[in-house]
Amino acid sequence: MAQRKFRKIMAANRGEIAIRIFRACTELGIGTVAIYSEEDKLSLHRYKADEAYLIGKGKSPIDAYLGIDEIIALALKRDVDAIHPGYGFLSENAEFAEKCEAAGIAFIGPTAEMQRRLGDKVAARKVAVAAGVPVVPGTEDPIEHEEEALIFAKNYGYPIIIKAAAGGGGRGMRVANNRKELVEGIASARSEAKAAFGNAAVFLERYLENPKHIEVQVLGDSFGNLVHFFERDCSIQRRHQKVVEFAPSLCITPEMREELCAAALKIAGQVGYRNAGTVEFLLDQEGNFYFIEMNPRIQVEHTVTEMITGRNLVQDQILVAEGKPLSDPEINIPNQDAIKMWGHAIQCRITTEDPANNFAPDFGILKAYRSSAGFGVRLDAGNAFTGAQITPHYDSLLVKVSSWGLTFEEASRIMHRSLQEFRIRGVKTNIAFLENVITHPVFLNGKCDTSFIDKHPELLK
Ligand code: ADP
Repeated sequence: MAQRKFRKIMAANRGEIAIRIFRACTELGIGTVAIYSEEDKLSLHRYKADEAYLIGKGKSPIDAYLGIDEIIALALKRDVDAIHPGYGFLSENAEFAEKCEAAGIAFIGPTAEMQRRLGDKVAARKVAVAAGVPVVPGTEDPIEHEEEALIFAKNYGYPIIIKAAAGGGGRGMRVANNRKELVEGIASARSEAKAAFGNAAVFLERYLENPKHIEVQVLGDSFGNLVHFFERDCSIQRRHQKVVEFAPSLCITPEMREELCAAALKIAGQVGYRNAGTVEFLLDQEGNFYFIEMNPRIQVEHTVTEMITGRNLVQDQILVAEGKPLSDPEINIPNQDAIKMWGHAIQCRITTEDPANNFAPDFGILKAYRSSAGFGVRLDAGNAFTGAQITPHYDSLLVKVSSWGLTFEEASRIMHRSLQEFRIRGVKTNIAFLENVITHPVFLNGKCDTSFIDKHPELLK
């Protein structure tokens, strides 16, 4: 692959991740281009780029960011060399990756073919099996007929989890404890998946009781070199969506870490993976791990990995997309040993949601916004400033707070102090809830599993 130096990068996204991408570019001396919808006319991300253009006139707020042809035509017109898709929106859209490359614009991510092999959970499970990595017992293919589901239930018993093959963000997922829930769950998961992803295919997995969610960050170049950046523990979830993440995990031994990271590299290697990606596993109570999916993109929680390794993952994404090998002096990862971890990092997602009202999103003007700062604190904010308008059109992530300390306890104390320092008025947030989570004895033990929030209703007080 020919190397090229990017002069201008467009972030085909909004909010904190667009700003995160612009910062990475600016530090590399690369120009930045923002796109924004009508509804985002006053959003901060558009002011953080060198250039910004309105897109999606007359389209819905979400569809504005999904207009593949419009976005590529704009990029061509503005001499953009590469597009970073962030997470969500077009980040896992193989057609978008393909069309970017066909237009001579580099897509900062894996190839369309890799996306197709990994973006679909059923296909990804097959990749893992071929790589010799354990998967949760499940159906090999999507369920076509009710009888297939009932046979699976007979063989494996309940509970069973019904999952959308194209699923993400916890959508299109149902847990079934009996035949009735299974049959009804398949129907409702199918229609939810069809509406959310345009693909109704669902498959079944045994539902593991109270597992931990551990994921491994990987990075590949275009020459077949692959490294990992250790793991993140993302077990603290609400409705199967991550709330607090930390690195490293406190519940695996160094031997397990080596095994997990090796398994992640095997899966990535199976498809010759390029760019940054995350291999997700569930860990059961006996310490067995099972692959669940691979996300072929940067993730919300990448900050904690950056903090324990000192690596700038978004810049690494850009540099490998320029065609540089990992050993290039600018990337400087000649081998796995070049990546070390130090200390502990925790990330909390501050959202404009009301925990007292079942986490319903809240909207309005931020009458006051004073953030935290100080040693060990990193903030990645979206549209967060006094006077900002929080609209109902997009996800409710306001600011990601990451803390770093030499020990997990210290990182937790810094996080607590940092959350206490925030003053946000005018719109409700989940800060008090997050404080309850990160001061809870089970959390401080590092022992949370995915049932933690459900099992502790007192966290909502
Ligand atoms: P999504 O792509 O929607 O995020 P995932 O497959 O990554 O879905 O799963 C999200 C979460 O759902 C996991 O972290 C875990 O909490 C739960 N989950 C998924 N599969 C299982 C399973 N087989 N058993 C128990 N929990 C599961």
